[in-house]
Amino acid sequence: MKLLIMGPPGAGKGTQAKILSSKFNLIHLSTGDILRSEISKGSSTGIEAQSYMNAGNLVPDKVLLAMMETTLKNLNDKGLILDGFPRTIPQAEGLNTILKNNSQELDAVISLTADENELVERLIKRGHDSGRSDDTPEIIKQRQEVYWKQTSPLVDYYIDKNILIEIDGIGSINEIKNRILESLNSHA
Ligand code: ADP
Repeated sequence: MKLLIMGPPGAGKGTQAKILSSKFNLIHLSTGDILRSEISKGSSTGIEAQSYMNAGNLVPDKVLLAMMETTLKNLNDKGLILDGFPRTIPQAEGLNTILKNNSQELDAVISLTADENELVERLIKRGHDSGRSDDTPEIIKQRQEVYWKQTSPLVDYYIDKNILIEIDGIGSINEIKNRILESLNSHA
């Protein structure tokens, strides 16, 4: 099974991705985590990504596509949950091609929805203990804006492909998990 989870910053996609990965035995691929680890290794990808991430902007598509092409090729026959990729239409097209070349496809896209003001509150709280340099109020606002402008068009893109599952992201972690599991069941 290959899943994608998307949603604005703070919607809890990382948390739900972890739950789904252990429930269905999927490898959790968080591009934010991968990029942060490239930065701490000081790799060329990390060096290229750092200034974009600190500003709350997207790292260029070609960097993400190169990184994900190698990663996905190595995990070809594995169950996966993608978290944070694709984030733009060109990335989604690129992912399509990569999967097609490996005779794979996405089974479902889970889109978590939530009120913008609630999300900003959540992230500012998280910023106090996450230690992430991009969890400051200004950068959080920038990341939200980038999501609405560049990533939210993917919702329609995946509706057209008939694989979108929309989930209300407001509620307890457990409530949201149950909503996702129910929808995946009826989608299958
Ligand atoms: P969040 O969803 O809370 O913004 P992530 O950890 O998913 O956090 O991403 C952090 C940062 O990593 C993003 O703001 C962006 O700069 C970079 N990033 C992650 N995934 C991608 C991607 N697919 N395309 C471009 N940039 C990305």
